[in-house]
Amino acid sequence: ERYNKAEILRRVEEEDVEFIRLQFTDMFGMIKNIAVPSSRLVKVMENRYSIDLASLDEIAREGEEELYLKPDLDTFTILPWRPQHGKVARFLCDVCREDGSEYEASPRRVLKRAVEHAATMGYTFQVNPECEFFLFHTDENGMPTTLTHEKAGYLDTSPIDLGENTRRDIILTLEEMGYEIDSSHHEIASAQHEIDFTFEDALAAADKVTTFKMVVRTIAKRYGLHATFMPKPLQEMNGSGMHLNMQLYKDGRNVFEGEDGNLSREGEAFLAGICEHIDGITAILNPLVNSYKRLVPGFAAPSNVDWSKKHKNTLLRVAKRKFQSMTMELRSPDAASNPYLVFALCLEAGLDGIQRELKAPEEFSKDIRGIRTLPRNLGEALDKMKKEPLVAEVLGDVYVDAYRRAKEKEWTKYQSQITKWEIENYLYLI
Ligand code: GLN
Ligand code: MG
Ligand code: MG
Ligand code: MG
Repeated sequence: ERYNKAEILRRVEEEDVEFIRLQFTDMFGMIKNIAVPSSRLVKVMENRYSIDLASLDEIAREGEEELYLKPDLDTFTILPWRPQHGKVARFLCDVCREDGSEYEASPRRVLKRAVEHAATMGYTFQVNPECEFFLFHTDENGMPTTLTHEKAGYLDTSPIDLGENTRRDIILTLEEMGYEIDSSHHEIASAQHEIDFTFEDALAAADKVTTFKMVVRTIAKRYGLHATFMPKPLQEMNGSGMHLNMQLYKDGRNVFEGEDGNLSREGEAFLAGICEHIDGITAILNPLVNSYKRLVPGFAAPSNVDWSKKHKNTLLRVAKRKFQSMTMELRSPDAASNPYLVFALCLEAGLDGIQRELKAPEEFSKDIRGIRTLPRNLGEALDKMKKEPLVAEVLGDVYVDAYRRAKEKEWTKYQSQITKWEIENYLYLI
């Protein structure tokens, strides 16, 4: 624990904080907040601010009791881009009931449950996400476009990399907010960037991803740019992923670490668990219609259920070198996902592999046969999710039903469109 109530009160006083934002995420991981004058801080810390969760999304059943925001004191952060006199600070909050108990069908609670489950088995889950995003121009009305003047590619520098100053400012802001940044670079596509953190406990990492997206968008806007985490904004270029590097610890030791620099038996079972459940959890890892346009061959994103120690584009990559400790990298998730759910599901899928002592599929090689593809669109992923008991176990029935209803609606709406492509290809010919 970093802070207690008295310390928060003192910091708000000393730092001249005028407003407190009570932030949380909706069921899809979008950050939301209500702002409260700092004179209300005591009321805030007594969890007395209620929200109408039912008007926000469907995880709160109608007629459900009153729900409140319960600030996690450790997430207290001053927002560096707001005024320096009369500052603005925020808490990330849990959703709780009148009596302070946390509401089961909320994203943060879902991840905490998975982390607690791992703890009963003696494990802690450390993750390190790689968030990619584009910086695009806005038009004369300030509306986002998919245009960029930039021609830079992987690891380019200025003057070719036109986003360098924006990226620098994003990182300085994040550091002011307590982030430890490992590195950042220009990605393969024009105007595409990546900023990498360090390994953290899953909950802290999910909080960081959530906050990161807000920071990136806010700072980009200052430079007149639009930052987007949309998985595949440009048809002819790579999309943006959120690769997830994972390590599992027991008694302070990374249990993925095997003999002679290999993956351990436990690690292999964890990997097998992810392969076993990946189809059923993909609708959470890749939540948009657009997500599946990224997961196609030819753009450095995975499209099959495979793994490798040396190939770069498999779904899972197992390697020691980058982090000097055995790491499993899952490369399908994108940043449109809700990180709390993604981390919880990856952890539980892996633990299930360990508990059932599952065997990993054969390692990828050029002549391997019978590899299956990931779900090819949101509809298929939703069908797979329906048949996957793990998702309901981890999210709970209320959450998974609400999620499925919303996503089925999205898929049906998309699916019923007649596109320009269809008219061009079929109208004259058929
Ligand atoms: N952007 C690629 C993806 O969609 C990853 C490319 C990379 O990190 N080298 O996952
Ligand atoms: Mg990377
Ligand atoms: Mg990358
Ligand atoms: Mg990667």
